[in-house]
Amino acid sequence: MTLLSIQPRPCTDSNCRGQHAPAERVALAMSLCGARGAQLTTLRRQILELLWESGRPTGAYELIEALKLRDSRPVGPPTVYRALEFLMSQGLVSKIESRNAYVPCTHPERRHDCLFFICSNCGASVELEDPRVAQLLVEDAAVLGFRVTRPVVEVEGTCASCIAAGAA
Ligand SMILES: [Zn+2]
Ligand SMILES: [Zn+2]
Ligand SMILES: [Zn+2]
Repeated sequence: MTLLSIQPRPCTDSNCRGQHAPAERVALAMSLCGARGAQLTTLRRQILELLWESGRPTGAYELIEALKLRDSRPVGPPTVYRALEFLMSQGLVSKIESRNAYVPCTHPERRHDCLFFICSNCGASVELEDPRVAQLLVEDAAVLGFRVTRPVVEVEGTCASCIAAGAA
């Protein structure tokens, strides 16, 4: 892959439905990390690529298998978990707690709450940003005197394609 030839194009569309080319988002992650002086090592980048290619929440062990296929270099769970921690600390990846799995964050270039819709049938996940939900969370947290560190909302259900296909 010729990643270096791909120009990152930061997204400014607040109604964006996350339709970005994976390679462009990986190039964007590389440029963000470069600007922050954070090391997006080959392994970290490969994991981010795999998550973008997967299109659904992917667990650490599935990532290990996929990495093996990619360059036959065995990688242990602690290494993969450390890489995932790094990617999360940079806002490049979110953890879907209900699945114990990971998804790429669609818009690491801007601050946002992550709102994930996850299909219980096919496992596909879509990330949206909705300022109304973000505002509600801010207000509810204020009422509780709660300081939010990880505003992630997970919504389970059936996706449009599965409904169209007559599943569930
Ligand atoms: Zn976008
Ligand atoms: Zn996000
Ligand atoms: Zn589905």
